[in-house]
Amino acid sequence: MYMDMTAKLSLIDSADQHAVDLNRVMVELNHFRKQSERLNMMNQLHARMAGVLGLSGMIEAYSVWLMPLVEHELIGYSNNTRKTKHLFCSGHGPNRRKAIAFAEQLIEMGETTQGIYSDDEDHFAHKWVIEQADNAGILLILKSGKQLNDDQIDIINDSLTILSESLTRALDYEDLFQRATIDDLTGLANRRVFEERIPGMMDSARRYKHALTMLSMDLDKFKNINDNLGHLAGDEVLSKVATLLKKAIRSSDLLVRMGGDEFILVLDNTNKANARILAERLCKAVDSLDIWADAKTKLGISIGLAQLEKGESLREWMERADDILYHAKAEGRSRVASM
Ligand code: GH3
Ligand code: MG
Repeated sequence: MYMDMTAKLSLIDSADQHAVDLNRVMVELNHFRKQSERLNMMNQLHARMAGVLGLSGMIEAYSVWLMPLVEHELIGYSNNTRKTKHLFCSGHGPNRRKAIAFAEQLIEMGETTQGIYSDDEDHFAHKWVIEQADNAGILLILKSGKQLNDDQIDIINDSLTILSESLTRALDYEDLFQRATIDDLTGLANRRVFEERIPGMMDSARRYKHALTMLSMDLDKFKNINDNLGHLAGDEVLSKVATLLKKAIRSSDLLVRMGGDEFILVLDNTNKANARILAERLCKAVDSLDIWADAKTKLGISIGLAQLEKGESLREWMERADDILYHAKAEGRSRVASM
């Protein structure tokens, strides 16, 4: 066989060209594969975050998603504007306590300092500031032994948009929830919270044979304050009374503003006799605010006290408490009545 030199060279050239093309295709393919893997990961993050509404659940979901990609001991989110922080730590025992103490120390430093930190326990923390999420979110990733590498930092940077969108949604939800359950003027729980919590309290009181006592309360001659001092002064009085009531109760008790100048307090694990002691104290405390509804009338509070009876429905119990309150008003106001 005969092949001239030029033809031979051109064959080699074209083989080289093929190799170069193949290489380029392989590099591009690899690049696309990586891109699609990254996209896939981010989709998984989206899906995981979409199922969660609360902030702490969101931090936990983020930590679970991140763990196979970036091993870490703790993820923290802190929001100084709202004075909240959520730490999610996968460790146990003394290590966990040390990691949490270190994270808290870094949070204390405030939101303006982004960077890498270490303590003398060989913990490394990477701190990000997520400006979109309320302008004050800090994300902390804590790792024992070594710092995150560039790849891991890239993954976190890429995920921050999704994380901050989700956190913003959680913050909005928190606001909405707050607005739906908290009375704006007094900061007390509202009627909706009462309706939600009271059936559970009644069930548990019956199951464990605990006493449960309701105090139905209404301010005396409150309208006169509005009439004489104006609506704003009236609002201020409602806030003052609410603060006073809030200070007097335990966290297991349920205190709500039902509307207007009406409040309900449900005392858990408390019988009528003990409830009376607290109710009398509340009456005296409102009296000592020394607020005058008009020249002759000092602001007071009347309280009707009713312990939940066997077989009594919520409606019957509330009506009974309201009837007893009516007696307290009829007997001269600023007093406690019970039956
Ligand atoms: P009583 O001793 O019989 O309870 O007389 P009262 O003057 O307190 O009258 P009542 O409890 O029937 O009415 C409460 C009033 O509270 C009626 C309403 O004008 C006023 N009020 C309701 N909500 C608000 C509020 O948010 N702010 C202010 N300033 N006043 C309110
Ligand atoms: Mg009143």
